[in-house]
Amino acid sequence: MTFEGLGIDARLIQATDALGYVTPTTIQEKAIPVLLSGTKDFIGLAQTGTGKTAAFGLPLLQLIKADSKFPQALVVCPTRELCMQIVKEIELFKKYIKGVNVVAVYGGTSISMQVRDIKRGVQIVVATPGRLIDLIERKAINLEQIEYVVLDEADEMLNMGFQDDIEFILQNTPKREATWLFSATMPTEIRRVSKKYMKSPVEVTVGVVNAGNKSIDHQYYVTTAHQRYDTLKRLIDFNPGIYGIIFTRTKLDAQGIAERLTREGYDIDALHGDLTQVQRDKVMGQFRDKTLQLLIATDVAARGIDVQGITHVINYELPDDQEVYTHRSGRTGRAGKTGVCMSIVHARETYRLRTLEKMVQAPFHKFEIPTGKDVCRKQFFYFMDKLLQTDISHGNYETYVPMLQERFAEVSKEDVLKRVAAMEFDRFLKYYENAEDLNARGNERAGRERREVSGREQTRGAQREERPQRGRSGSGGSSEDFARLFVNLGTKDGFYKASFLQFVLDMSDLKKEVLGKIDMKEMNSWVEVDRKAAGQMIKALDGKNYKGRRIRMNDANSR
Ligand code: AMP
Repeated sequence: MTFEGLGIDARLIQATDALGYVTPTTIQEKAIPVLLSGTKDFIGLAQTGTGKTAAFGLPLLQLIKADSKFPQALVVCPTRELCMQIVKEIELFKKYIKGVNVVAVYGGTSISMQVRDIKRGVQIVVATPGRLIDLIERKAINLEQIEYVVLDEADEMLNMGFQDDIEFILQNTPKREATWLFSATMPTEIRRVSKKYMKSPVEVTVGVVNAGNKSIDHQYYVTTAHQRYDTLKRLIDFNPGIYGIIFTRTKLDAQGIAERLTREGYDIDALHGDLTQVQRDKVMGQFRDKTLQLLIATDVAARGIDVQGITHVINYELPDDQEVYTHRSGRTGRAGKTGVCMSIVHARETYRLRTLEKMVQAPFHKFEIPTGKDVCRKQFFYFMDKLLQTDISHGNYETYVPMLQERFAEVSKEDVLKRVAAMEFDRFLKYYENAEDLNARGNERAGRERREVSGREQTRGAQREERPQRGRSGSGGSSEDFARLFVNLGTKDGFYKASFLQFVLDMSDLKKEVLGKIDMKEMNSWVEVDRKAAGQMIKALDGKNYKGRRIRMNDANSR
């Protein structure tokens, strides 16, 4: 099989020849004839490295009209690196075609240059979702004439929390003739998106595709509510080489835990909604270059961050929203590496793990919270490995050997080792000498029993849901205790329930206890808030800006 045989035109073959592509790869062979039709939807289940960029890049170049200087094709991908890489390859393919422009649009860099590039007249836009939405909102890009939309590494985009953005893009490309989706895995969320926005797509699988991300080991640790912090610390200590992200539900938790751990000597910082862009970039920069070993973040703040090589994700608490779990865990186990997602749970919450298991289509493993002794042993082995692997070839240590030998003449090798170990370990040994058992023992059965009761309560709760403005979804509190606030933000703004609640709490510096029921619609929402706190929330939100839009919040019942 040749590129010519697949229908690729001569100018493009000149380029592929120049690149040394002799035979098309499997995905190219299967995708190119379908994509060249220009009207068929396509799902390609293929990993990076299979040649998928050329599989969609060559047909795109052949289909677009070079003499029309407006965006006709849109490639959406999860990261800045991938975005640049795709553009680089398309640039190579278009070498022998005149008048075609491609632009890369991604966050974390000046938007004005990108706006200028688009204005110059481009046919192909390669973008990360966040920046693209930004450009749409600034009216710097017009998707009206887009005919082809490519979603590359769709599973990664969903893992990174871009689902709403993707749907927004698909909803706002009215002239879309064909949608091509590439993904390494096929989780249910992608299936749902494809069902909703694609017409009888041709589906092609290259290699083995798993349903979820099997490279993540999902672990959980059961403790009591007041021992969450100690458990977190112990899990960190038990994983000395950890490079991880800890997720909390609220900004206050993220900040508080980061401060406490910093005081106790950990390299950690927090990422939350209150940081300015400059502060955020600084924290992210330090985390990327590994000056920070740990990052603690709320879901909203962590949206879209892309860091390679994360070894662990820790859920300080399980998220309220199931899908958020996938977004969190998807930060690890990427690009062919394996990762661990650990959840610290209360005995009462263990029943929720079954639902999560079903969703990620992978088992959750229960692990004992390590004892103090376990931690010391683990740290000790890690230290010994580090000691043995220390590179002594560079420094001029030979010259010091006689001096060292003289000074240590009376000390045995065992003693030297003991002293070195003591220097490193005193902190741990002292801290963990009498460390208590943090495992919540024998409570899981109670958890399950309680679940059955709470299941019944939930049914009752659901009945309550049908009567607006009454009671609170949890227990206690009557409608008189709550004010029902209207706010002009909704799912259209990219929120889902949990992220929205966190947003209002973060903005108003209130605790989640003040919240009652929430009712979200596409454009507006209604939140029940403890009457005593309602004023503070309205003051904090009303009149503020969200993505360039003015927020309106007021008491729904007094309107
Ligand atoms: P991708 O999966 O798009 O990241 O491509 C992986 C690598 O394979 C890239 O470096 C491409 O340059 C290369 N490649 C793509 N198609 C071919 C081909 N038909 N023959 C040889 N190399 C290819």
